Order: sequence, then C-alpha cells, then structure tokens
Amino acid sequence: MTYTVSPIGFVRSCFKEKFAIPRQPQLAPAARGVLELVAPFDQGDAVQGLEQVSHVWLLFVFHQALEDKPRLKVRPPRLGGNKSMGVFATRATHRPNGIGQSVVKLDKVEANRLWISGIDLLDGTPILDIKPYVPYADIITDASNGMASAAPALIPVVWADTALQQAHAQALRLQEPLVALIEQCLAQDPRPAYQTPAPEREYGAQFWDLDVRWHYPEPGLICVLEVIPKQ
Ligand code: SAM
Repeated sequence: MTYTVSPIGFVRSCFKEKFAIPRQPQLAPAARGVLELVAPFDQGDAVQGLEQVSHVWLLFVFHQALEDKPRLKVRPPRLGGNKSMGVFATRATHRPNGIGQSVVKLDKVEANRLWISGIDLLDGTPILDIKPYVPYADIITDASNGMASAAPALIPVVWADTALQQAHAQALRLQEPLVALIEQCLAQDPRPAYQTPAPEREYGAQFWDLDVRWHYPEPGLICVLEVIPKQ
C-alpha cells in the first residue's frame, strides 16, 4: 500500500548544507528560519490560533537523504559512526519514508509564514505537517534513552580577532544573532568523530550566505578563522 503526501510548505533556513547543522533541534537556539506555507495553507485560516503556542512539531522530508533501498541498520554519528544500530532505534536521516520530526520554537505567526528558531533543518526542507507542542502530553519526565541520555558535550569555541569583527559586521547586515549561531553550532563539534583534526586542517560550512572557516588548534578546541560572504 502506498500513500501520497505533499508539502504544506518549505523552510528557508540559516543552514545551506548538511555539515554543521546540529543533530537535533533546540541545540542551537540562534538557528533561525522561516516556514513558507504554500497554497491553500497560505491564507491565514490554517494557522489561526497558533499564536497561542510557543513550540510546534514539524514533520518533514529529509529531501537530501532519500534512498530507494531502505536501511535496517544505520551508524549514528552520535555513537562515533562505527557502531551500527537498528534504524528505528535512531533518529538517522536515512530511514524508511525519509520522514523527520523536530520540535522548534515558534517566534512569530503570519498568514503565510511561520518564523521559527532552534531548528535542525536544511534550507529547502519540505514540511509535511505542523502540530502544536502540547506540554502535558509531550513532556515525559521519567523518559530514558540509554544511547542518548544527555545533549552532546560541548567544546570551547574561540575567535581570531578578524573573524569576530567579520561576524559582528555580517550579523548587523543580516539582522541575525550570527555570533551565537556560529558558537552554538561549532561547540557541538560537527567534525566526523573518526577524523583526528590536524591543527593546519581547515573546516568550513555555510551559514546564511556566509562561508565560515575554522580549525582545531588543539584537540577539543575550535578557533573560528574567517566569516566571509560565500563566493
Ligand atoms: N530532529 C530530526 C529527527 O529526529 O527526525 C532530525 C534529526 S537528524 C539526525 C538531523 C540532521 O539531519 C541534521 O544534522 C542535518 O545534517 C540533517 N538534515 C536536516 N535537514 C535535512 C534534509 N532536509 N535532508 C537531509 N538531511 C537533513
């Protein structure tokens, strides 16, 4: 049996590539985006009442991780990428039907768009449905997960002087909390766990329209080197 679903909107996100996106929502509160609704959901009726809600669940398609053959086992980055687990025990992007779900903060509601933050979504992500977060039902105080019992440990992020000046200038231009965004995302150490970063090796990712480059001057420490417009 097959079902057909179609997007009710698409996310315009600060994240333009998969690398350096937090592995779950809420890990980078400064990660912002806009969910643009498409017809017939863009006239205001469909979002009436949402202004009373602080957070929403988004159901979406991992549109840049779709595969024809379903995987039964995956290697979650959270476990270092070298231990396999049943796909249903993980939040891996490669999964049957390619459906993801994230709880995000709802900052503003307009008739045809929702302003959201704390996102872990790539730019262009198709959204299948929006549901209000319901604290009394969704908070489970005695819940446990032996594989992911707490948020990943953070590593310190320092700045080269010029990079910090660049980031402040670009933040003003974009009117976005850019310094916080970069710090919150890099503190989670986006590098694959199996790579040992040599100090001379540079890493980079795009946030908004900016190319952000960093390195590891020593293990467990990130230094941001450059924040410049993407060529
Ligand atoms: N919170 C969601 C969930 O549990 O279903 C997503 C978790 S998944 C581990 C998060 C990762 O998905 C991000 O770090 C990013 O690399 C990737 N991602 C986000 N949006 C995507 C998209 N539209 N297509 C493919 N990968 C995406």
